[in-house]
Amino acid sequence: MALIIGNWKMNGLRSGLDEAGKVAEGKREGDRLVICPPSTLLMAMAEALDGTGVEVGAQDCHMSASGAHTGRVSAEMLKDAGATYCIIGHSECRDECGDTDGLLGEKLAAVLRAGLKPVFCVGESLETREAGGAIDHVKRQLEVVEGEAGRAIVAYEPIWAIGTGKTPSADDIAAMHEAMHAVLGDGTELLYGGSVKPANAAEILSLPHVDGALVGGASLKAEDFLGIAHAS
Ligand code: PEP
Repeated sequence: MALIIGNWKMNGLRSGLDEAGKVAEGKREGDRLVICPPSTLLMAMAEALDGTGVEVGAQDCHMSASGAHTGRVSAEMLKDAGATYCIIGHSECRDECGDTDGLLGEKLAAVLRAGLKPVFCVGESLETREAGGAIDHVKRQLEVVEGEAGRAIVAYEPIWAIGTGKTPSADDIAAMHEAMHAVLGDGTELLYGGSVKPANAAEILSLPHVDGALVGGASLKAEDFLGIAHAS
């Protein structure tokens, strides 16, 4: 069954927990669903979803377990709050939080140390795609995670497809996932992310080596999120 992970990004107040409850109500036997709310909602959401089979994840973490890092949250704290997954290397974080490959290696180690499942994001810019360098770019990003293949989930998210309504062609997604599978092997689940919605989910999720989806905007409404999950 496909793994469908929702990334709420910086969206959601306590009143939005109802939407997570609706996801739990609509979950079918065997569905593998994860919601990554902002860290302010993690504990409440984990409690609300306890026993439903819908898991909760975080969107980023600091590489240290604790210390003088004002405003930051460690992987251990996220686990303590009820998270079982943690996204790292999302293009918005690479851009806004200064995530470099070196830092991401440390974050990956921190997530594994805390016993969370890392969802490691990779993806090229439009410029790189148009220059024909998408696969080489992603392969270079995968060097950070290669040593932990089998312990990490990897999400291919072309930057130009995130929140834009645009997606690569099915052939381009399949070619990228084939290349990632060749690097990482059978033990690593590979997700596609970038403007996944109920209308395109069936085609994307049927492609070889696409084991699930990382969903941003369409994860905010339970109906859309479940529509994606049930398209697979
Ligand atoms: C994301 O940010 O991880 C994402 C895939 O966003 P969207 O689905 O909105 O393109």
